[in-house]
Amino acid sequence: MLAASLALSLVPMASLSAEPSAELDELAVDLAPPVSKPAIKQIDDLGRRLLALRSYLRTSSSLEDRWSWTEQEIEEFQGSPEQLALLNEVAAIEAHFSRENPGYAIYANTKIRSLDVQIARWNENVSVGSAASELLSALEAHFPNFETQDKLSSETIRNWLVRYEPEIRPSLAAPGLTRHGQAHAIDFQIMHDWRLIAEASTRQIEPVWIANGWAEKLAESVNVAGPSFHGPLTSPNEPWHYDYLPNRSQ
Ligand SMILES: [Zn+2]
Repeated sequence: MLAASLALSLVPMASLSAEPSAELDELAVDLAPPVSKPAIKQIDDLGRRLLALRSYLRTSSSLEDRWSWTEQEIEEFQGSPEQLALLNEVAAIEAHFSRENPGYAIYANTKIRSLDVQIARWNENVSVGSAASELLSALEAHFPNFETQDKLSSETIRNWLVRYEPEIRPSLAAPGLTRHGQAHAIDFQIMHDWRLIAEASTRQIEPVWIANGWAEKLAESVNVAGPSFHGPLTSPNEPWHYDYLPNRSQ
């Protein structure tokens, strides 16, 4: 049904009004780089969809390299020498941490985050929702004359999206782009008596990770025992997140 408007790559400007537009939704799919199209189709809200599209367009050339593994690729990684190397390094960090902090232990989630899980989180995450609303408001503010102009071309949308700088930063990477999707990142959490006391949660950064010194203590163990780990992530601020880059020495 939408083939004709897609072929012209034009969208009625009136569709930018409060009601989400099927045409603009479809235009986002049309503009998405091939590897990201199936993911874009599963993002159900227009603002969230355009926000993800912005990340894909800005990543452009490295998108395929960074794109999260399929279920089959994740399965192939299981039991491989590469996985063994990762688990050995994580175990060394855990051992160092327990020696330095008696009674406390690290819980490292080494499960690779599938694309499906990433999409589900993107669709429900609150910070993504706020950033998505901001993007839609900015889009409407930038094209205020939609009553008098008839059409908005895909090129116009693309250029605007690529240049757009949101004030609100989502706490998640767009689906497909997280380093957790290729075993290139690990979140380390802290346990006491088999209970998590420092979790991978934005709310705990100041009162727990910083105030109780866990960010520093974790960093020390990673520095000593995890030569392939780099971090923690600073944008967004995640003291628990370290990138795993075994082929990059530093
Ligand atoms: Zn992480």
